[in-house]
Amino acid sequence: MSENNTVYRVLARKYRPQKLSDLKGQELLAQSLRQSIADGRIPHAFLFHGIRGIGKTTTARIVAKALNCIGEDGKGMMTSEPCGICKSCVAIQNDRHLDVLEIDAASHTSVDDMRELIDAARYKAVQGRYKIFIIDEVHMLSKSAFNALLKTLEEPPAHVKFIFATTELKKIPDTIISRCQRFDLKRIDQPMLIEYLDLIAQKEGFKATPQALSVLARAADGSMRDGLSLLDQALSLTQAQKSTSVEASLIRAMLGQADRGLLVDLLSALLKGEVKEAIHVVNTLFEGGADAASVLQDIMDFVYAMVTYKTQKIQTNLGLSETETAHFLDMTQKTQISVLLQSWQVLLKGYEELLKSPLQKQSLEMILLRLCYMVPLTLIDNHVDGTTETKAEKKNPKSDLTVVKTEETVIAINDFDSLLCALEAKKEMMLHSQLRHDVHLVEFQIGFIQLRVIQGIKTDFIQALKIFLHDYTAHEWRIEITAEAGQKTLIAQEQDKQAKLNQDAINQTVVQSILKEFPDSKISIQNREHS
Ligand SMILES: [Zn+2]
Repeated sequence: MSENNTVYRVLARKYRPQKLSDLKGQELLAQSLRQSIADGRIPHAFLFHGIRGIGKTTTARIVAKALNCIGEDGKGMMTSEPCGICKSCVAIQNDRHLDVLEIDAASHTSVDDMRELIDAARYKAVQGRYKIFIIDEVHMLSKSAFNALLKTLEEPPAHVKFIFATTELKKIPDTIISRCQRFDLKRIDQPMLIEYLDLIAQKEGFKATPQALSVLARAADGSMRDGLSLLDQALSLTQAQKSTSVEASLIRAMLGQADRGLLVDLLSALLKGEVKEAIHVVNTLFEGGADAASVLQDIMDFVYAMVTYKTQKIQTNLGLSETETAHFLDMTQKTQISVLLQSWQVLLKGYEELLKSPLQKQSLEMILLRLCYMVPLTLIDNHVDGTTETKAEKKNPKSDLTVVKTEETVIAINDFDSLLCALEAKKEMMLHSQLRHDVHLVEFQIGFIQLRVIQGIKTDFIQALKIFLHDYTAHEWRIEITAEAGQKTLIAQEQDKQAKLNQDAINQTVVQSILKEFPDSKISIQNREHS
């Protein structure tokens, strides 16, 4: 066992809640338990469900104490606030109460284990009011073990109480669940975790910076035990540096986390389509020891937080400093929700690919590039500038890669070619054909197209095109018909290209034969149309 573990055990025991009122973030549960105890309606079986490290067994022990507490004077009744000093409370606190048995189902899965337990349940309590069986990880029991348990639950002896704890409710038979009073323990929210970890750090003689607490709370992900364990490691490391100030940088290094500021820079580059900058930041992140999967996860976290903020005005704790937060919120406001949703798809698909890839860094770069080239649809949000017209972000990378032809990836419409690709992808072949044959493109901006339609062709399809663009991009597009000449039709351009290829081929053959005959000659070819 490492030194850290030893210290953690001390810390965890030191700050383990001993009363219902000590339970952090579980007010509803505490209230409901209090009511049951006050009314004397104690269920035969409790079922505590929640993520790991959230306090299920701690709560189970508090309930065991509450049911068996006899008060300071030894004459007390059941109480929701066990005294903690009577011999019953002390025995339970020290794991040596004869009538309170704690079993880890993970290592006692068999039907024989269960029979032994049920056998023990037949005898009256020796020391306390109730014989209490706390079964942790109860979902690990075998099917036959559950069946044996069910018989006892159907006709439980009056002096027996079961307290089950589980992280996986789905693995417990319904017949068992229906015979329990079920309590769901909530994830502890970040502000509460931060407050509590801050308090513990202070009690231990340390001062943690707000950013450090924020990083810790994020990593604990709603679990008090994880939060305490991480704080404990952080305190040992801080102490090793002969300091009492717990810093975010130290915790990030401890967690192998990337620098948040750099991640914000990366996200910013991605949303602006700044390829060079994005790759530069990725390199810096790797030099700092970051790994590809966690960088991608962090970017996904950021995108998710942006969506949450835009749709619900909820600000997620991303462990950012004040300036980073300001930058992040600014980006959020300037980015359209449709862009974020598309980005999410690319990231999610990319993440699956990354997990299978033998070339982690290269794969990460490819995924981020895909995002760079897809995102140019980044428009200034209507709600921000107050107009209905959309303005194209100026830094669109123009390249053949602009259109991403992955099946699951949405094609960003940022020029006439990509519009055609999108139509093809959506099997709008009628519109596709009309745009190829019947129109001359005059101007294309994101959100605005100017066209000349060939004489004699009906312009009904313009309305259909508008509807398509609106459905596809979630934005209103303006399409203007003009008399300006514009470019050749696409079909004419394709024909020209083909003709040129043919001509080149002919020229090539002619040139070869001339050079063969006159090796020292200089040859220049002029296109007949222009000569
Ligand atoms: Zn007591």
